[in-house]
Amino acid sequence: MPSDTFKHKGLRKKLVDKIQLKGITDKQVLEAIGKIPRHFFLDAAFEEFAYQDKPFPIGAGQTISQPFTVAFQTQLLNIKKGDKVLEIGTGSGYQACVLVEMGAKVFSIERHKSLYTKTKQFLVELNYFPRLFFGDGYKGLPTYAPFDKIIVTAGAPTVPEDLLSQLKIGGMLLIPLGENVQTMTSYTRTSEKDYTVATHGEFRFVPMLGDRIG
Ligand code: SAH
Repeated sequence: MPSDTFKHKGLRKKLVDKIQLKGITDKQVLEAIGKIPRHFFLDAAFEEFAYQDKPFPIGAGQTISQPFTVAFQTQLLNIKKGDKVLEIGTGSGYQACVLVEMGAKVFSIERHKSLYTKTKQFLVELNYFPRLFFGDGYKGLPTYAPFDKIIVTAGAPTVPEDLLSQLKIGGMLLIPLGENVQTMTSYTRTSEKDYTVATHGEFRFVPMLGDRIG
């Protein structure tokens, strides 16, 4: 495990100030981002990029999301301690750690075997314990449903029915919808059959693809 120096802590504080200026007000979100050493999630050679507000490649053609995007999605989810949260797209595990840090019980699915294996090992070393699954996020996790919140961290062409059906009543699914550019879209379940839909601006994500690979 690399070290977390005063320099890293200083850069992290600046990153938190930056995303606060961009409109993030949820204290718990800002605290989690201020606490988690994002440079541990990138290869040592790219450490200096860890505290820029940018996405970054993590292998297998995937990226760790931009810190502002992580903060924005997490803030929209309005996480309460003990919330059962399903994440689609574990990737580096950074988003999952932010949710764990905020007291959520986190379940996360990754379709790339290599990323799943690498992240599973790394998070144990880091002492964060979301439950990680190798599988196709389009199907969700019926065995562990229903969830208070579901967060999708890849761009989906349409909203997966399986995910909607795995929400508790009162729960929220947050998903970037679209092909090249995605509209951040929330579905709040108001009854067995009804959902309130809202949109929250445009973002760019790597695509959500079907099935597992590797
Ligand atoms: N939340 C991640 C961001 C990863 S990028 C982080 O904090 O680092 C999106 C991830 O979604 C990629 O790792 C990609 O492999 C994964 N993904 C894409 N389609 C998927 C699917 N159908 N099921 C599960 N994961 C998927």
